[in-house]
Amino acid sequence: MSDYVQSPISGRTMNRPLLISSLIKNAARYFSDVEIVSRMSDGTVHRYTYGDCHARAQRLANALAQLGLSIGDRVATLGWNNYRHFEAYFAIPGSGLVLNTINPRLHADQITYIADHAEAKCVLFDLSFLEQAEAIAAQCPGAATFVAMCAASEMPERTSISNLICYEDFIAAASDTYGWPEFDETAASALCYTSGTTGNPKGVLYSHRSTMIHSYAEVMPDAFNISSRDVIMPVVPMYHSNAWGLPYASALAGAKLVLPGPMMDGKSLYELIDGEGVTFSAGVPTVWNGLLDYIKARELSFTTFKRMNIGGSACPTAMMNTFRHTHGVDVIHAWGMTEMSPMGTICTLQGRHADLPEADIQTLRETQGHPVFGVDMLLLDDQGVELPWDGKTTGNLFVKGPWVIDSYFKHPVGSALEDGWLPTGDVVTINSQGYIKIMDRSKDIIKSGDEWISSIEVENIAQLHEDVHQAACIGIPHPKWGERPVLVVIARAEAEISKDDLLAFLEDRIAKWWMPDDIHFVDTIDLGPTGKVLKNKLRDRFAKVESTAT
Ligand code: ADP
Repeated sequence: MSDYVQSPISGRTMNRPLLISSLIKNAARYFSDVEIVSRMSDGTVHRYTYGDCHARAQRLANALAQLGLSIGDRVATLGWNNYRHFEAYFAIPGSGLVLNTINPRLHADQITYIADHAEAKCVLFDLSFLEQAEAIAAQCPGAATFVAMCAASEMPERTSISNLICYEDFIAAASDTYGWPEFDETAASALCYTSGTTGNPKGVLYSHRSTMIHSYAEVMPDAFNISSRDVIMPVVPMYHSNAWGLPYASALAGAKLVLPGPMMDGKSLYELIDGEGVTFSAGVPTVWNGLLDYIKARELSFTTFKRMNIGGSACPTAMMNTFRHTHGVDVIHAWGMTEMSPMGTICTLQGRHADLPEADIQTLRETQGHPVFGVDMLLLDDQGVELPWDGKTTGNLFVKGPWVIDSYFKHPVGSALEDGWLPTGDVVTINSQGYIKIMDRSKDIIKSGDEWISSIEVENIAQLHEDVHQAACIGIPHPKWGERPVLVVIARAEAEISKDDLLAFLEDRIAKWWMPDDIHFVDTIDLGPTGKVLKNKLRDRFAKVESTAT
């Protein structure tokens, strides 16, 4: 604070702290009858309301209080998107504890690393993740209390965890009235970890203030545009980046919530979307292929589903077009990162774009959009010189804002920043209106001679071929050029596509030196714990394949 100019006169408004508990109190007070629908691991659908949720969140807060935890202590979760995890989203930070969501899809060593590094004292877990919880119990002596998020009848018959508590018993024994405490809004609220594709995961610690400002910003029309008239289905998991803030934004707006649990297949998603009247959903691109295949095979359509945010990695143009033109669902491209809570930019169109020709609108839609109010951006070259926002010049993107971290957990304050800005690791162009286009992650960009090649762009064009289900472009070491692009492709079922067909398709569409030296057809492409293509694994897999460029 000392860096700021001090005024001799302060405003005379109430200094009320921005606290997460206010979100669930608001939802219960004004939207008590609005439903929260959850698909459980056994496929059954559970439904209750914000009113019910508030009562149970208060029980959970009371039950946690009896464990003797102190304000600021971490309580970890290993959970799907379902109502019990949702209750934890409010009870834990609302009572002054810190919600440490652990991604159960991470490697076992990373899970125990996180629980240990976070110093989690208590772990709540869905039964699907019993094994991961057992590993934490065995290796993290600080984690003293384990709660299985299930009913008494579902408790595991055998487990190596001693004194395992049943969630339903745990909260049933506690009162459903709890006085949500007031504390400073800068108090920590949640601790998420990055996916750790290189090195150990790093802790990203949000505050009540950052989460609340992010929630206010997220519901805005030119952000996620969320209101009480929406039915929101977060497909993005609650164990990664707070499900892009959707649990909190939905409670703020009083929107009905549909939590899809572990079932991400096309049939399960379609049934929830159409059966529950979902209007808005959000997730990474790879998760939507199953849904598109399912509705195509059965010639189904959507009744209420109107818009979706796709981000986390670049949304293929083909996917965007199919949703929009065939199914009437507006795909809104979004970019962010865990370090940004995670919302950064959103591709909503503006009034000034109303009369643009369709081709220009399409070009705009394929960008990752403009910054949400609150996010500042800076474009620099490798030497730190500021670059123009002309939509052509590529550079390194830096950001700042009230929901952007300044350091990783247990690192010195400010240490994640360079001159006050967070380096995103993304290489982008920015146009004069502030729309960014992610060309690549700096570690995935392909450097061929003096030129660089956007792997995202090559993948995007390859995926326009109707027989290509998924494509990933990687740089393979080359003695003369440094690196050359190689394309790895999953063809659509029953498609008969050859390497020459695809090369011929690419030929007219991309620059000559961007042409992949080789194309490998494969059955699977490794995805990381958040559903993104693991390019480093692909590089290892194909590193030995000789490049043929001369
Ligand atoms: P990680 O993927 O490293 O586990 P994040 O989920 O925080 O962690 O990912 C943030 C990164 O994902 C961004 O820095 C960017 O590289 C990539 N990303 C996010 N959204 C998009 C998008 N719409 N298009 C391209 N890349 C994206």
